Amino acid sequence: MPNVIDTVARHATTTPDVIAIRSVGDPLSYRQLLDASLRYAGALAAAGIGRGDRILLAAPSRSEFVVAYMGIQALGATVVTVNTMSTAAETEYFLSNSGASLAIRWHELGPAVADAAAVLGIPAWDLTEGAPVDADPVADIVDRPADDTAAILYTSGTTGRPKGAELTVANLLAAGETGNRVSRGTADDRIGTGLPLFHVYGQASVMMAGFAGGGSISLLPRFTPDGMIEMLRRDAITVMCGVPTMWNALLHSAPDDAAAQFSGLRVAVSGGASLPGEIARAFESRFGCTLLEGYGLTETTAMATFNDIDKGGKIGSVGAVNPGTEIEIRDTEGTRCPTGTIGEVCIKGPTVMKGYWQLPEATAAVLSADGWFRTGDLGVFDEDQDLRIVDRLKDLIIRGGYNVYPGEVEEVLYSHPEVVEAAVVGVPDPHYGEEVAAVVVTTPGSAITADDISAWCRERLSAYKIPRIIDFTDALPKGSTGKILKRDINRTDLRKTQ
Ligand code: ATP
Repeated sequence: MPNVIDTVARHATTTPDVIAIRSVGDPLSYRQLLDASLRYAGALAAAGIGRGDRILLAAPSRSEFVVAYMGIQALGATVVTVNTMSTAAETEYFLSNSGASLAIRWHELGPAVADAAAVLGIPAWDLTEGAPVDADPVADIVDRPADDTAAILYTSGTTGRPKGAELTVANLLAAGETGNRVSRGTADDRIGTGLPLFHVYGQASVMMAGFAGGGSISLLPRFTPDGMIEMLRRDAITVMCGVPTMWNALLHSAPDDAAAQFSGLRVAVSGGASLPGEIARAFESRFGCTLLEGYGLTETTAMATFNDIDKGGKIGSVGAVNPGTEIEIRDTEGTRCPTGTIGEVCIKGPTVMKGYWQLPEATAAVLSADGWFRTGDLGVFDEDQDLRIVDRLKDLIIRGGYNVYPGEVEEVLYSHPEVVEAAVVGVPDPHYGEEVAAVVVTTPGSAITADDISAWCRERLSAYKIPRIIDFTDALPKGSTGKILKRDINRTDLRKTQ
């Protein structure tokens, strides 16, 4: 029976000295990673942790995170990976909702975790100090059923409290194998990322995929453009994974001579949010490197589609359906739409989650008995059977009965030379039901006005799509992976300007 740590264990036997993880401090070979994980598992076992127990892990992306994660797996327990920015109240909810019996924290980011654990009377270990229990490594990796819950990742959604997506052993192993297969990973690869490992993208598409291929993973505990460029150079990175805001940050603040550091890259993977065509084009012309886009969600253990490496990037497309996965586009009645028609993206396959932790009704609302998961995203297949994500259903703006897809308007805004970032949202309007609002970050020193932006849009968009509300800001709200969080944009402050 399988275990999430199996790939690490396999490489610890076949290629024990290959570096598995590079981060702050000494690198860890596969043999060292396995040994450290089994020691950590021994300490957890000595503290009474066993199969099925939930352990909360709140730590930055460093080798210590991976050791604790894999130690928990070796025991057959369930890891609950949470955002290191969570407040004490949020952490208390994650701990009590998951029924965690232990919290593992990172000292600098740990007060919230320590406070929350203290309130609930749950022990908290500091990962910085290693395992507090002096114990022998476990002798065996627990064999567990493939549908055992290996990890719980909370996802916020729009309403209600965060829901814990239960990812099984099979989900994580399948996501790793598929991610490695579509990116053609080999043991020679050096994968670099500034993504957090507590989020599904870093955890499944980087960590699990990297271990599936047997290459080395370089982790940046906190993404900065300089840190990323230095990592590309120092670790001779061949595969880089990130989200569009990271590419944008590199474009706007990398030193002039940075392009040389990108020459060793074999693949640059973009995911997590839609990649504006303008960013993809600018990235390619400045760094000589094509961004290949993939699409997925926490509930599908990351990537469900990816652009074919041989075909190169296809701007606006998230590529073909991954092997083993099925995708259907369905209308509001649940009927399959013909190619070329926009509808809800529904996904079935080995990476689709088991369900939301202890929420049978919320699970049944999105996951059918025959395994189809409703993503809440709108998409369309083109004639090559490549998928385009149009927008999130919940972000769709209906202005006077017409559908406005925010992504299409954002594309136009990003194409303006003085726009750095843009988010388009719907704002309640007494006449049209909703009005189109744009919040824009401009280049330093730019003097463009709302009228300029409006004129730019008027030349490129039908009248009903043009933002009538245009607001300027220094920075847009962003989540843990750097994704722009539209739900955190304060819509009540947005006033009609046009
Ligand atoms: P939260 O967990 O805070 O609710 P979230 O809703 O963004 O965040 P995730 O599972 O992190 O949840 O992200 C999944 C969503 O990200 C998808 O439903 C989709 O809307 C978006 N997404 C991911 N990749 C892409 C992509 N390549 N193009 C467009 N959208 C994407």
